[in-house]
Amino acid sequence: MKPSAALDRISPSATLAITSRVLDLKRAGVDVIGLGAGEPDFDTPDFVKEAAIAAIRDGKTKYTNVDGTTELKEAIAAKFTRDNGLTYAANQITVNVGGKHTLFNALVATINPGDEVIVPAPYWVSYPDIVEFAGGKPVFIAAGADQQYKVTPEQIEAAITQNTKWLILNSPSNPTGAAYSAGELRAIGRVLERHPHVWIMADDMYEHIVYGDFEFATIAQVCPTLYDRTLTVNGCSKAYAMTGWRIGFAGGAPWLIKAMAKLQSQSTSNPCSIAQAAATAALSGDQSFLKERNAAFQVRRDLVVGMLNAIPGITCPTPEGAFYVYPEFSGLIGSQTPGGTVIDTDEAFVTYLLDEAKVACVQGAAFGVSPAMRISYATSDALLREACTRIATAVDALK
Ligand code: PLP
Repeated sequence: MKPSAALDRISPSATLAITSRVLDLKRAGVDVIGLGAGEPDFDTPDFVKEAAIAAIRDGKTKYTNVDGTTELKEAIAAKFTRDNGLTYAANQITVNVGGKHTLFNALVATINPGDEVIVPAPYWVSYPDIVEFAGGKPVFIAAGADQQYKVTPEQIEAAITQNTKWLILNSPSNPTGAAYSAGELRAIGRVLERHPHVWIMADDMYEHIVYGDFEFATIAQVCPTLYDRTLTVNGCSKAYAMTGWRIGFAGGAPWLIKAMAKLQSQSTSNPCSIAQAAATAALSGDQSFLKERNAAFQVRRDLVVGMLNAIPGITCPTPEGAFYVYPEFSGLIGSQTPGGTVIDTDEAFVTYLLDEAKVACVQGAAFGVSPAMRISYATSDALLREACTRIATAVDALK
């Protein structure tokens, strides 16, 4: 037996591969600093853990409704109203096994062969693979550091064809941290209003992780005319430091939510009952800890952006949110390592950093815009300072 043709269309997640490589090195005793992980280093809040323990004690340990308990759907509806000014009824809400699963269900439930999905690059690694798995075609539009990693309405307009099914908008972005303001979203919305066959997948996973006076906005909120054809995707993984609990969710059109439930009913059944109880607590409880955590993240962002920009050959825009920076280093391409290897790609550069500086980052090629790399700053200030110092030393040694 051989793997299926659908499986042949996809590759394993590059970011998860880096994380497991770092774990292997650490196990072997190597002093490596991993800046590849896409998860907060904070712990799940205690009140969330307590809710899960109570759920176990109360016997909430059985199958639930396929796409979410009534309690969690109510908490999600309240969250959308509170945070986004969006109204979704229970039949417009789906709960899935992590945000990745929400996106997977939506794309697999709607894509036919030949359908196109517009994916702004740099993109989160899984979008193209899920689109391809579903039989669709990712259509990339690239935004480099010169445009703060944000695509323009004109680029979107030029990419739309009769076959376009979805536009994916991820703000704040993984891997760049760039986030669209309400005004920028409105300008994009004006293009989409002219193309009623295009649906919008708003991936708001990093909604709560924004800095300074930047105000998060989502497209269905600022462009009400697009509400009917927008799937607003969110989850507990990032803001609530619940990556292991696997809860993602979305609000959207009733037929789409029903289609996603049909698919889920034949794959995972329901998300974990205990994790759903924990998510209900997370979304409904005191949200003030988010601000404290953001304050810590902002200090780290500023530290990393400052140290990287001080390295000749590296340019690092200051992102509005998430916990990633995406420095570009076209100035270093063509240089040589002390061992004589030519740095001809961003992959060669991150390999050099891992081998020589013992710092693990993910090459920009994995996210569709090169030469660059993604650095996750969800780790301590001390480790970040050490990592940037090591990167500076390694760059200094290049000829
Ligand atoms: N969307 C983006 C942009 C992400 O960065 C991630 C996680 O890395 C996800 C979705 C998926 O999150 P989850 O861990 O809940 O599946």
